[in-house]
Amino acid sequence: MKEQRSVLVIEDERAILRLLRDVLEHENLIVFEASTGRMGLVELGSRRPDLVILDLGLPDMDGKAVLRDLRTWSQIPVLVLSARGNEEEKVASLDAGADDYLVKPFGVPELLARLRALLRRSEGPIGKGPIYRLGSVCINMVTRSVTKSDAEVHLTPVEFRLLSELLRAEGRIATQRHLLREVWGPGHESSSHYLRIYMGHLRRKLEDDPARPRYLLTETGVGCRCLCERLADPDLAV
Ligand code: CA
Repeated sequence: MKEQRSVLVIEDERAILRLLRDVLEHENLIVFEASTGRMGLVELGSRRPDLVILDLGLPDMDGKAVLRDLRTWSQIPVLVLSARGNEEEKVASLDAGADDYLVKPFGVPELLARLRALLRRSEGPIGKGPIYRLGSVCINMVTRSVTKSDAEVHLTPVEFRLLSELLRAEGRIATQRHLLREVWGPGHESSSHYLRIYMGHLRRKLEDDPARPRYLLTETGVGCRCLCERLADPDLAV
């Protein structure tokens, strides 16, 4: 089952936002919007879209500054939109970490062709990953499914992201700061109560005895770790 992909549009012009929303929704993509750079960065951290469309001329900050900020913590594909068609601007955007560039006004077929190419490129790493086991719990990173004693366990997107980050560390401690930034986005590095609450959710759903966890462990003041067994890596099996 292929999950629906999503796009975050960071753009302050209402007419272009409306056009993009129509076009993208017609392509069966989920659309999130932000009309300032600052809101865009927050949305990016909380929504975790598959792709970003970024206008360079934003009211509160330059689009290239948004790009430089997001590139310090995310590899998400970014398509830059700009009214400015000069080469310097294009090079500066690509240098700041853009994956592609489109000059306004743009044609819809060209926009869609660029978006499809970017989404295809991002499919690999998003769709693949190993299988982990914690006791009777099995986590398949390919299908993003979680089972406990063969019964399906439903995790919210935030719970799944937190679990993924813990699994990625493969038994090592992931620091609080790292987890907060990766799961909730930049600006949340000191919101350690989020971590306490969501580790509690995961323990209730996955541990046999949540009060005495065996797999999802917290090292007070440092971070968390997940004692997991890595079963297979479908990347290698292909
Ligand atoms: Ca603009």
